[in-house]
Amino acid sequence: MSDATIISARKDVLNAVILAHNYQIPEVQGIADVSGDSLELAKISKDSTADVIVFCGVRFMAETAKILSPRKTVLLPVLSAGCPLADMITPAALKRLQRENPDAWTVSYVNSSAEIKALSDVCCTSSNAVKVVRNVPARRVIFVPDRNLGWWVARNVPEKEILVWEGCCNVHEQFSPDELQEARENFPDAEILVHPECRKELLERADAVLSTSGMLRRAKESAARRFVIGTEEGMLYRLRRESPEKEFFPLGSKRICADMKQTTLRQVRESLERQRHEIVIPPETGDSARTALERMVQYL
Ligand code: SF4
Repeated sequence: MSDATIISARKDVLNAVILAHNYQIPEVQGIADVSGDSLELAKISKDSTADVIVFCGVRFMAETAKILSPRKTVLLPVLSAGCPLADMITPAALKRLQRENPDAWTVSYVNSSAEIKALSDVCCTSSNAVKVVRNVPARRVIFVPDRNLGWWVARNVPEKEILVWEGCCNVHEQFSPDELQEARENFPDAEILVHPECRKELLERADAVLSTSGMLRRAKESAARRFVIGTEEGMLYRLRRESPEKEFFPLGSKRICADMKQTTLRQVRESLERQRHEIVIPPETGDSARTALERMVQYL
């Protein structure tokens, strides 16, 4: 029997749902019940009637799903699938920064650990970071952990003082201004869309700075026929699937998140067969992190 057949059978037995991030390999996105960005998937896990969530992505995403659905079993097929960006700030470092800036609110990007979320006043995503920071009731804001998204927020919310943590995504940092210039020359009719985790030189020069869900919307709604995409290459699969009449090209060479690509059909199958690896979050951490996540909607 194929992995896909066994996965389907085990899903029925466990009343499980399979969620895959947009950066997962096509085979995994192909067997998933839903593909999406981290927050879309976390919301789906919360609303789902499934007892078991198999989260094909990286650890902080599965944690977010668990925080929002504490009574469900959340499985991460590959335990070592982490996010180097999320690991760039520790709870001790954030506590120190908070002690030094007691009047500042802490806004954490969802690409952060459960402990960091628990220490935050509010969370944000790449699509709503500007709005959240603009609306929080403080003039000074500690923004963690991504410096490029933090720079984008500071540029769009000049009325606030933003203390930006110096973390970055090693995948999005690889896109260069030269590649953007080359794409302009090679695809003069195309729109260039970049993710806000890219370097600020790209954020300044792209046609639009968008989250992955924003890119999907833009591709459908724009009159342009061709797009150059500055984010992890897995996104091209979903863009092409959802807008088959349009053309999508990677910005420069394909950029691959090695952590995202660790999950294969075999590991999804084993995760369902052995119910591994279950995400466990201490209740106090989960409660505080949930407050920060739920508060996000208040400031949109
Ligand atoms: S693409 Fe970057 S931010 Fe996303 S999971 Fe990989 S390392 Fe983390």
